Amino acid sequence: MSVRDIIILGCSSQQPTRFRNHGAYLVRWNDEGLLFDPGEGTQRQFIYAEIAPTVVSRIFISHFHGDHCLGVGSMLMRLNLDKVTQPIHCYYPASGKKNFDRLRYGCVYRENITVVEHPVKQAGLVEDDGKFKIEAVFLEHGIENIGWRVTEPDMIKFHKEELKQFGIDGPQVRKLEQDKKIKVDGRWVSLEEVSHVRAGDSLAYVVDTRFCKQAIEIARGAKVLICESTYLEEDRDKAEEYMHMTAKQAAQLAKDAGVQQLIITHFSARYRDLEELGREAREVFPNTLVAEDLKRFPFPR
Ligand SMILES: [Zn+2]
Ligand SMILES: [Zn+2]
Repeated sequence: MSVRDIIILGCSSQQPTRFRNHGAYLVRWNDEGLLFDPGEGTQRQFIYAEIAPTVVSRIFISHFHGDHCLGVGSMLMRLNLDKVTQPIHCYYPASGKKNFDRLRYGCVYRENITVVEHPVKQAGLVEDDGKFKIEAVFLEHGIENIGWRVTEPDMIKFHKEELKQFGIDGPQVRKLEQDKKIKVDGRWVSLEEVSHVRAGDSLAYVVDTRFCKQAIEIARGAKVLICESTYLEEDRDKAEEYMHMTAKQAAQLAKDAGVQQLIITHFSARYRDLEELGREAREVFPNTLVAEDLKRFPFPR
């Protein structure tokens, strides 16, 4: 299996701090790079993370507040500079088309890459291209804001020993996968006898919203949930006023949705010690990780 991890390129909310850049999350998954909400300075964060920006194949924009999109223009410019050959798919709420265009064409450069836009008009299935299934819900943040879920298809995993035992190899393996059974030396062998199905991983991304049922719905049963946790519970009034969540609420969301692992992020500049947010979340949902700039989290097994 190729590398499969989540790299935190930034974890601040609206206002970056000396220690935290505007948010941006890179998910390296099956030879693709899924970049969520590139805020200002994302291009440089790639350098600090020692990852080539050319890995990016899809960009997701939850909404068009600056901390979630100011890096879109510079990322596209950079991918042009690097002359990437893969198409760059961009997913964003359709109501922000004008903002996307401004970001895309905000500076002068020769566009030589292929950008495929996916403006999302309604909740539900956005795309299923055989590599990933992408779903969206609209969250509650005052402006149109999308919560994403990305799922890879289930995969058939062959057992080498059993294949050898039955004398199945080369193109026969592909045939067995297609036909579900194959005749070898006069004996039928079924797919189940020599393989098992590995359920595809799924990742949900929920930022900038108040606690809502759509957020639970999109995160339901996900392996990993990246979730905003802008405030501590003691500042709940601010979370409500600005339509954000507290660490406790993020944990409650992870619990209600039955996810495997929670990564909290999008922290208000008012907090220096992020562990306090982690502690608060872990009281409700123990398997909580706290984002930190340039930290890498492998997908949980
Ligand atoms: Zn934000
Ligand atoms: Zn916002």
